[in-house]
Amino acid sequence: MIWILVILAVFIGFSLRFNWWRKSESFYHARVLMYHSIAEHKGEKFDKWRVKPEDFEKQISWLGKNGFASYTISELCDLKELPQKSVCITFDDGYADNFTNAYPILKKHGFKATIYLVPNQETNHWEQKNTKYISRMLSGNEILKMGDIVEFGSHTMSHLNLERASLGEVKDELIKSKQAVENITKKECKAFAYPYGKYNDDIVRLTKNAGYKNATIVKRGVFKAGDDKFEIKRIGVLGTEGFFDFWLKFHKVRNKL
Ligand SMILES: [Zn+2]
Repeated sequence: MIWILVILAVFIGFSLRFNWWRKSESFYHARVLMYHSIAEHKGEKFDKWRVKPEDFEKQISWLGKNGFASYTISELCDLKELPQKSVCITFDDGYADNFTNAYPILKKHGFKATIYLVPNQETNHWEQKNTKYISRMLSGNEILKMGDIVEFGSHTMSHLNLERASLGEVKDELIKSKQAVENITKKECKAFAYPYGKYNDDIVRLTKNAGYKNATIVKRGVFKAGDDKFEIKRIGVLGTEGFFDFWLKFHKVRNKL
């Protein structure tokens, strides 16, 4: 009798954790995935922002085997009609490991990506309260080498919470970082990601005025034809979640309550 209760408890626990009963979202809706660092774990809470290279390869290779086609974020926004199984791989902040660890995997499997740079910063020092390991960000040279498959967007000059900045500061950050990214890539910087996913109507308006063509947020969801291109939802991939979590999120968008 007791083992029936134990099995039941495990089943309920598993179900609450993974929400397996949730319906899959249509694959006519694009998935925009959000990554940060692709690196080995250091044994701290911040590891959730570090997807291990082997896990990243598993995810990208699964996408390839299952017939998903990748687009950069601006390519996705320019599509007249979304083909079935469209995916965007995005990286926030511009960690140097995006070049050393992610780029070879993306190349190997024929995937494109979008990286949002903080072009004025050499390290992710804004995370110093959250990690003991400060990381180096992409160099100009590394950025140029990835230009064949990567679109570079902006993520401000100083990774500040735009909601807490004055509108003058917001405008300045948007314009200067766009210019700084363009100075490195020699290409138009069309894409923007709001740091910490923080934005409001004024910030959206200033982002459009600065000349950007699209912007991503942190709220979870899919991208459908006709959606607002300045509030593109994403599915965050965390380093502390297993492949089953990735699979569930990818299909159903949510894997937890
Ligand atoms: Zn960021």
